[in-house]
Amino acid sequence: MEDRYGHQISYLRLSITDRCNERCRYCLPQETQEWLPREGVLTYEEIIRITRIGASLGVKKLRVTGGEPLVRRGVTGLIRSLHAIPGINDIGLSTNGTLLASPDPDGPPDATMAQQLAHAGVRTINVSLDTLAPAAYALATGRDFLPKVLAGLDAAQSAGIASIKLNCVLMRGTNEDCLPELVDFAHQRHLLLRFIELMPVSRTEVLRDDTFLSTMEARRRLEARFGPLTPRPDFRTNGPASYYEIPGRRQLIGLIGAMTNLHFCESCNKLRLTCDGKLRPCLGSHLEFDLLTVLRAGATDAEIADFFRHVVERKPKEHDFRDGYIPQRHMTAIGG
Ligand code: SAM
Repeated sequence: MEDRYGHQISYLRLSITDRCNERCRYCLPQETQEWLPREGVLTYEEIIRITRIGASLGVKKLRVTGGEPLVRRGVTGLIRSLHAIPGINDIGLSTNGTLLASPDPDGPPDATMAQQLAHAGVRTINVSLDTLAPAAYALATGRDFLPKVLAGLDAAQSAGIASIKLNCVLMRGTNEDCLPELVDFAHQRHLLLRFIELMPVSRTEVLRDDTFLSTMEARRRLEARFGPLTPRPDFRTNGPASYYEIPGRRQLIGLIGAMTNLHFCESCNKLRLTCDGKLRPCLGSHLEFDLLTVLRAGATDAEIADFFRHVVERKPKEHDFRDGYIPQRHMTAIGG
């Protein structure tokens, strides 16, 4: 599928739940406790059917996300089924990492969730980790779960997950002093670390001048500690990150500048399926199309394929984050 601007769509992000066991200040703040009713959330059968139709139209890569995808029962079974869909050749998972070392409630008691995910076909895991300082971690996420995340990273590495990335959201006043420590940690653990600019994706006012920290400033802070970073435009991971090499090490770090990088959307290849069955052509646009109603009204596969094409035709050239965008839905429902 190709949109009006030449974006080739081959990547579908699946948010399988709006629920989460953390309360990140920039995503799902503490006061939020209301969840979508269960009947308003896509069943696994519905997600599999939609993905199969997407795959017949050229979707090759999936990322299972949320909310926290590991809080929904049966997630490893879902991933096994997604893995079996012809045309799907890459399945990633975005997680806060807190449950990776726990047993899968649907699997054998001696297997970790990470092992079960690896067996099910997950190839890459992105783990959110904004800081290694316990107090700052608790402040950012509303929970004291840093030890669980560190155990989760161990579990993912020992389960043999091929690619594990760390995602750190940049927040002035919370983690701007913790960045070099995260770089050292990623280096010691052979993990690919990316720094992400804060985006206006939650309903509350999280993005302000006093909380925003640009990737440019993060780079300056890293250079003050490590020396000049070398751009590595040759290195790409199928996403919007720009990669840089830390001097004297063969370590790369990624900068994801959704707010400040004016070329951010040029190579966008994504669609998002929200957990309540909306197909969204862009995270940073209010456009979304209600597939759940169409599906439950008995749409045929051909009609759903047309629905996909219709959404791709409406994909915007770029996101609206820089134009006073006011979020209407939490990122947990949309899927980060
Ligand atoms: N719970 C999972 C996790 O922690 O990765 C999956 C969902 S979470 C919404 C996906 C990613 O979105 C995380 O890396 C999170 O840090 C990021 N995110 C959430 N809110 C954000 C915001 N306001 N700005 C930038 N990134 C954000």
